[in-house]
Amino acid sequence: MATARHSDDCHAICSGRAQADSDTLSRLLDLLEYQGKQLFARHGVPVPDGKPADNVDDAVAAAEEIGYPCVIKAQVLIGGRGKAGGIKVAESEPEARGAAEAILGMDITGPHGEGPFKVRQVWIEGASQIAAEYYASIILDRSAKKSLAMLSTMGGMNVEEIADKDPEALVRQYIEPGEGSFGTKEAGRLASDAGVDEDVREKVAELLVKLHGAFDASDATLIEVNPLVVTKDRDVVALDAKVTIDDSALFRQEEVAEAGEGEAEDPQEQMAKEKGLTYVKLDGDVGILGNGAGLCMSTLDVVAQAGGSPANFLDAGGGSKAEAIIDALEVISSDDKVNAILFNIFGGITRCDEVARGIIEAYGRVDLDLPLVVRLDGTNSAEGLRLLTDADIPDLHVEKTMLGAAAKVVELAKAKAGG
Ligand code: ADP
Ligand code: MG
Repeated sequence: MATARHSDDCHAICSGRAQADSDTLSRLLDLLEYQGKQLFARHGVPVPDGKPADNVDDAVAAAEEIGYPCVIKAQVLIGGRGKAGGIKVAESEPEARGAAEAILGMDITGPHGEGPFKVRQVWIEGASQIAAEYYASIILDRSAKKSLAMLSTMGGMNVEEIADKDPEALVRQYIEPGEGSFGTKEAGRLASDAGVDEDVREKVAELLVKLHGAFDASDATLIEVNPLVVTKDRDVVALDAKVTIDDSALFRQEEVAEAGEGEAEDPQEQMAKEKGLTYVKLDGDVGILGNGAGLCMSTLDVVAQAGGSPANFLDAGGGSKAEAIIDALEVISSDDKVNAILFNIFGGITRCDEVARGIIEAYGRVDLDLPLVVRLDGTNSAEGLRLLTDADIPDLHVEKTMLGAAAKVVELAKAKAGG
């Protein structure tokens, strides 16, 4: 799974709420540059032609096809690749080979110390003759419940640097929700406010409108183009692409979701995705299964309070059926780090007795050799508790309160780790 960045520089600066995203459950999926560019291309945003490659020979073949000069670009989920040596221009086949050899396999550390990330893929694209580098972005400002477009002629620098150096140079414009709210007129105003060269204002405006189209259609929370370049021929092209998609919208973003699948992925995350479950990997040893995202989040807190450390959490949604529970238990128990599992259910529409039946059936069908603590509360919880108690499953512990369940699961995890 792509890394989830819970607070983004860009969000921080625009909304003044750096933590906006960590307060909500939505996970953010970052696209690699080339996946972002493919998204752009589908929405008519001009990008250089290019090809991805994961080995030197394919990279050289791609360079030969694209022609020289071309640029070989490390595909990792951080910026600052240029400065880190992850972007090289090649004028010939031997240069392309040398560049691909140097970049593939290299470790890149981000400008804020992120990573290091090993380069497993490169993107080869035609080199642009750059006359000017601009900065453009569109972000979802959760506090304003609107998106915000930003533009500056000081491209190449990151957004904080621009805002620091010359706040006036970063022009911002809110976009009202709804169709047609950001047309060439609005985008053109942004371009002229930012001081974009007059002869390319229209092209910049058109690009921004299409970028907004891509933003909307992909449920993005952030699109950043840095640099957005004006070429010597006075064309306007997106040379870099940073795209963050709201993961909770991926069910309606199949194309994007598939793009994300090429990533080196955690095996549990891969498994969860295949089974259509929401899974978040953490560092500890207590597996958490809950019905509903909010409940999962508070379960994490309670487990931490009880002195435990969550290994992951999996939102089983409203799933009370044995099938869903089996899937969830399989994903969680396949993680070697997990020493005990807490299944926290608050019955609303999902009835606790149904969940209990699901668990009992699941036990008949999966081989679970980990202690499981079940907390059942809400609709039909008495019946659910009775069913589970009667089933008398070894190493299944039923608790009535969340705190009690957390304390129990932490105790069991510690015992398992110690033994
Ligand atoms: P990063 O932001 O990770 O450093 P970029 O894609 O922004 O990566 O590239 C860094 C710099 O490399 C750009 O600002 C630009 O000057 C140059 N560059 C990137 N792609 C091309 C290209 N296709 N043609 C010419 N120069 C490029
Ligand atoms: Mg860049």
